[in-house]
Amino acid sequence: MIELSQLLACTHDALIATDKDLVITFWNDTAEALFGWPEKAALGRSLEEIIKIAVTGPGSETDPKWGEYRKHLVEQGSYNRNAAFHSKDGRLIHANVRAKAIRDENNEFKGAAFSFLDTANNKKTDQSVQTCVDCYRALFDMVYEGFCVLEIMSDEQGKPFDIRILGANPAFNKLTGKIVGDLMKDFLESPLDYYIGIYNRLDLKNGPAHFEYKSRSQDRYFDVFVYVIDNTKKIILGVLFQDVTECRQNEKLLGQYRERLAAAMDAAHMAYWDWDPVSDRTILSDTASGLLGLRPGETLDCSNEGSKLVHPDDVEHYRSIVLKAVDTGGNWHCEYRIIKPRNGEIAWLEERASTKKDPETGMTYQSGIMWDITDRKKDEIALLQAKEQCELDRKNLEAIMEVIPSGILLIDANERKVCYMNRRAIELYGCDFTDRVLKDHVKLLRLKKLDGTNYPVEELPVYQSLVYGREIRNREMTINRVDGTTIPIMASSAPLFDSEGKITTAIIIFDDISEHKRTESALQESENKYHSLFSSMDEGLCIMEPVYDEFKKPIDFRLIDANSAFEKLTGMKNPVGCMIRSLFPEVEDHWLIAMDVVAHGGKPLQCVKEAKRLGRWFSLSAFSVQTNGLDALAVLFYDVTRERVERDEMAKLLKVQDEVFANVSHELKTPLSVIFSTIQLLELYTQRGALDANRYSVYKSIKTIKQNCYRFTKLINNIVDLSKIDSGFFKLNLSNENIVDIIKNIVQSIAEYISGKGLSVVFDTEVEEKLIACDPAKIERVILNLISNAIKFSNPLGTISVMISDHGDQVEIAVRDTGIGIEEKYLDAIFERFNQVDKTLTRNAEGSGIGLSIVKSIVDLHNGSVSVESKVGRGSTFRVYLPVRTVGQPKEQKQKIPSLNRVDMINIEFSDIYYL
Ligand code: ADP
Repeated sequence: MIELSQLLACTHDALIATDKDLVITFWNDTAEALFGWPEKAALGRSLEEIIKIAVTGPGSETDPKWGEYRKHLVEQGSYNRNAAFHSKDGRLIHANVRAKAIRDENNEFKGAAFSFLDTANNKKTDQSVQTCVDCYRALFDMVYEGFCVLEIMSDEQGKPFDIRILGANPAFNKLTGKIVGDLMKDFLESPLDYYIGIYNRLDLKNGPAHFEYKSRSQDRYFDVFVYVIDNTKKIILGVLFQDVTECRQNEKLLGQYRERLAAAMDAAHMAYWDWDPVSDRTILSDTASGLLGLRPGETLDCSNEGSKLVHPDDVEHYRSIVLKAVDTGGNWHCEYRIIKPRNGEIAWLEERASTKKDPETGMTYQSGIMWDITDRKKDEIALLQAKEQCELDRKNLEAIMEVIPSGILLIDANERKVCYMNRRAIELYGCDFTDRVLKDHVKLLRLKKLDGTNYPVEELPVYQSLVYGREIRNREMTINRVDGTTIPIMASSAPLFDSEGKITTAIIIFDDISEHKRTESALQESENKYHSLFSSMDEGLCIMEPVYDEFKKPIDFRLIDANSAFEKLTGMKNPVGCMIRSLFPEVEDHWLIAMDVVAHGGKPLQCVKEAKRLGRWFSLSAFSVQTNGLDALAVLFYDVTRERVERDEMAKLLKVQDEVFANVSHELKTPLSVIFSTIQLLELYTQRGALDANRYSVYKSIKTIKQNCYRFTKLINNIVDLSKIDSGFFKLNLSNENIVDIIKNIVQSIAEYISGKGLSVVFDTEVEEKLIACDPAKIERVILNLISNAIKFSNPLGTISVMISDHGDQVEIAVRDTGIGIEEKYLDAIFERFNQVDKTLTRNAEGSGIGLSIVKSIVDLHNGSVSVESKVGRGSTFRVYLPVRTVGQPKEQKQKIPSLNRVDMINIEFSDIYYL
């Protein structure tokens, strides 16, 4: 190549080569002589700058400029024309310019070669042409490319029939074995027409044409350049063969390598890019486009575009690395974030790239590979965060261990040494044992069991954890502190393992339990007290736990403890474990629910409940207690049956009193006002001295006063009797009497009175004598009351019958009337106090509603019974049944009821009948 350039330097043509931008890269001596610019000054400067195109006359100002020459070359490949130029010193130069484009293997325009032939001096030119031809010939003889001059031989019709070699260089001879003068037709691989066809297709008008030819017989590729030497009479062509087989093979291999590399990189999710400094364009592999969030095939039109994708936080770092690499021409490695332009997604990329300076052009080329490390970065960040968290946790843990109220000790399993003691541990030991060996530590502490015996080393929690990897909880022992005092402690220990399961550390936690022990014995004491109290108290006390169904609804309570008073009061033997429903089968669900609420901390409840099965009433106080950490119910109770009965009786009494006052007040007022007004009348007669004149009226007035006094008496008797009955003081004075006589006498006594009321009276008896034990005065009161009612509720002309029947063990006394009768719905109630069927004032008699209740009480006291049958409008029958029995009482002692007494009694009993 050196000889070639020397050769070119000394030709008579000014030879100039440029790059694609027409920047001068070659400048021979002739060029220097022609244009006046020395080579040094010319190289690196553009043609435009150095060789000015001259304007030589009208019209020549439209001559093409260098830019247009370049365009023509890029498009056409060559040109040949005459033009005028200015030399460095302004001299006008007329020259024939021939130019040819230089292209790379991809046919890309890479530069141009120019030859300027000074036409002002043709002679000189001829000489120089000759010299040049010689030069070329020498050159062609030397080069490795085969060169030949061929003539296409045609017949008279112009049809080609052979090709003759007119000239050939040694390389051609070597390649083909042919020499000047040889005919080619028989030598050709393909028929002659094939080559003629190629020739015809070539565009040879604008200089040499180029095509690639594959020799099948030699399996080689040739770049063939053809140009026309003459085509006037004969067709004479110059042909240059360049064996490019290796080049093609290399290209093919390169292509394969590229493909494989791309496939491998794709498989590794790697992407590559290539930056061309000339076009300032970055070619991206599809994977690279994908990584950058661009479309497949998309390129980055300038290096700046790539930087724009880099995350703002990483831009400075990225740029500094890249610029440094560019400066030093080295490689770079960088991890940075990008923001994908389409979706704004952030991805981490790792990039390795190299910069290479082309020694010839001085250009810096860059290419690199990159891959997505987002996941790895995420993991790294997570790991970092985890590490930070870990560190934080460790610090926190240390801080916690320092403030924790328990002593903490860590023992290194390998060295059997105390490797950490927290503040509390040091405080409890009385000194810092850190770094002491375990054996010393145990010895110094003189560990003992609470009963004072030595603690065997192999039983110690720390030993169990270190040797057997066991977790030991809550072992009590005493330690001897450095100051000589002994304290009880509770210690637990646990082993810590490494990832292979080997014990690395034993952790011991211990607490001073002096206070706990003190409270424990105090508790024990109070529990003992509680137990003696529990069993000695008179009140029943039991502890129960709720029993639930599947829906968590309390359905019973199980006794878990009970004192002896409980057993005494309930009669239950060994009640623990028994269900409360067995004691109170009637206990209601709502009561169980309420007690469950109390058991779980609800407000204590107090109530009085009846244990029907026991026939007793209890006053209960229920409250919540904890047993074995569970909610339970404590019930304290005592027997209130007596108080309950007394209270009920008192309540009844009070009720009676209330009723008596309510009902009787009216009854009291009526006779009182009658008496009062009658007395006023008598008073008037007396004042006027008209007593005699009004004798009859005075007599009637006195009778009225008397009757109302009887009414008073009846009422007061009844009230007194009622309260006697209620308080149990109403007693019978029993004697053996002929009941028939008693009844007969009383009916006879009032027969006249009844007839006087316009009513008939009938007495009938089945037996003449029936001796029974009875209180005759009270029986008379019963019969008088029944007859008095019969009169009160009879219609005029009615009949009242009194009948005695003997039923053997019973005597029946029936009092029947034909009066107004009683509605069926009132029949059951009339024997109750203050029950009156008709409370209006339209009745023909007065009454307090007490009479029948006293009748019933008297009959009951005789162990008899009373009943009623009645039909409204038809009358009523009251039957009194008295048992036939006698009492051991001598007949003589019997007190006869004085007849006056009976009259009074009749008057009293009948006092509330009108029109007496
Ligand atoms: P009273 O003093 O009001 O008569 P009693 O206790 O004797 O009170 O009677 C209660 C009620 O029973 C009477 O008020 C009356 O309504 C009804 N009664 C009692 N005896 C008879 C009867 N023979 N005929 C109809 N009703 C009667």
